[in-house]
Amino acid sequence: MSLRVDEEKQIFNFLRQQRCCLRCCFRFIGWRSVDCYQDPVKFAESAGYIAEDGSVEKDCSPCTACLGVLQNETQEQIVERIRDEVEKENYDCETFTCALTIPVCINLRERFLHMRCASQLELSRDTLVTLKVKLQSVKDIWKWMVTSKIEKSIKKKFDSTTPSPFLIEIILIYRYNEKDCEAFLNVCKVTNGVGNKRKRKCNDNRFSRKSMDALMTKVTDNEFSECFASSSFETVENVKVDNIIYSHSSIFIGGRYNKLSRELSQTPWFINGEKKMQTSVQDILCNPIAEAVKAESIKFSSSGREDVDVRNIYAGRPFAVELINPRISKITEKSLSDLVVEINRSSRQVQITSSLKVLSKLDLKKLKEGENVKTKFYRALCVCRDTSRDAVSLEELNSTKRLKIVQKTPIRVLHRRPLSPRERVIYEMRARWTRPDELKTLSIADGDTSVFFVLDVKTQAGTYIKEFVHGDFGRTKPSLCDILKADVDIIALDVTGINLNWP
Ligand SMILES: [Zn+2]
Repeated sequence: MSLRVDEEKQIFNFLRQQRCCLRCCFRFIGWRSVDCYQDPVKFAESAGYIAEDGSVEKDCSPCTACLGVLQNETQEQIVERIRDEVEKENYDCETFTCALTIPVCINLRERFLHMRCASQLELSRDTLVTLKVKLQSVKDIWKWMVTSKIEKSIKKKFDSTTPSPFLIEIILIYRYNEKDCEAFLNVCKVTNGVGNKRKRKCNDNRFSRKSMDALMTKVTDNEFSECFASSSFETVENVKVDNIIYSHSSIFIGGRYNKLSRELSQTPWFINGEKKMQTSVQDILCNPIAEAVKAESIKFSSSGREDVDVRNIYAGRPFAVELINPRISKITEKSLSDLVVEINRSSRQVQITSSLKVLSKLDLKKLKEGENVKTKFYRALCVCRDTSRDAVSLEELNSTKRLKIVQKTPIRVLHRRPLSPRERVIYEMRARWTRPDELKTLSIADGDTSVFFVLDVKTQAGTYIKEFVHGDFGRTKPSLCDILKADVDIIALDVTGINLNWP
């Protein structure tokens, strides 16, 4: 499909009369070479579209079709702003990609110009179809021209194929966009009442791209040109830059940590907007990392969590932190090991026990999946009240293997998640009486007849250990009370192992 040369010139001149810029004239007749968009005046002169004697106004501004999107003035304004802002934000990514949002009324205007062209120049049906197919989109032409200018100004390479993790979104608006759309909605109302219905149904996004596109396909060419027969689009000014948004895709960093405090929550704890504890595992681990990569915000995740009063010792708990919109994306081994040192120095309550690693999406899946399949190891300091060591047989515990227990939701978490009773397996236990030095920190009253023992447990993930020890008023069956036939309670709990190959 092609246009005859005389048709092409006719259309070109007609669009000029309608006050379209040279670039729009070229894209309407289907030019795809970069030259004609880079220097449209020179190209139009040399190709004989306009006279070389300067008798023709070279560039129409504002342009009826692109509303200035393709015009130098708008481009320069955008490139300058991006240069300043990228420099200020200091993103270290060496590539970028970009997305352009243009007002929806540009679509309407393109169709209007097509229809005007067809009727005024008495084009055949086939020619009109050809013309529609040949139209090059504003966005494509814009990208051809502007990305190379952005490349130069911010010294980063444009990469739309990978695509680059660094995205620049340019949002252009037109002050009279609604007025243009309104005119079109009136057309729909007159022809088939579609506009009216839409108006009531979704008033908020009446002019959204989606709803306008849907309407555009409903209205036939005849209806369209009939209703715009007596009116046309006024163009009094260019589009404006509404916003330019810069974002780098998230980076994930993970490792393992120990929690050595019995007075620390895992995440910041707020009641009515007030921070209830000075700090948290999340704060201690994530704040230095977020700062190092200059992230906008973070999302912390871990393989399970400890209660405030539970420690996590030995190999540590796997965790990951999502760093949202980081300015720094080049992370070296050295910077990771420096972070470990910094975090471990900053607090005695939390320590990183592995190296830190930059993670892939796949790694993260492992962290989530691991939550359900892993076995866990605990150590509990337990007490038997009003008894003596002779009366309690710890051997009973050491010889028990694969003990099935049934746990109703513990009273302490009942308000959060009342679930049906669940079965868990205690794979193995090892119990021994405490040594005197292990009780030094406890204040035991004179004449107290309690005896203490240390219990190591290997269990299925999701077992409530505290309840397994004290029985939770009969809600966990059997409990240590049942097995030892004694009044057993738990004094302190440590997580001693989480089986997951991490990071
Ligand atoms: Zn234009």
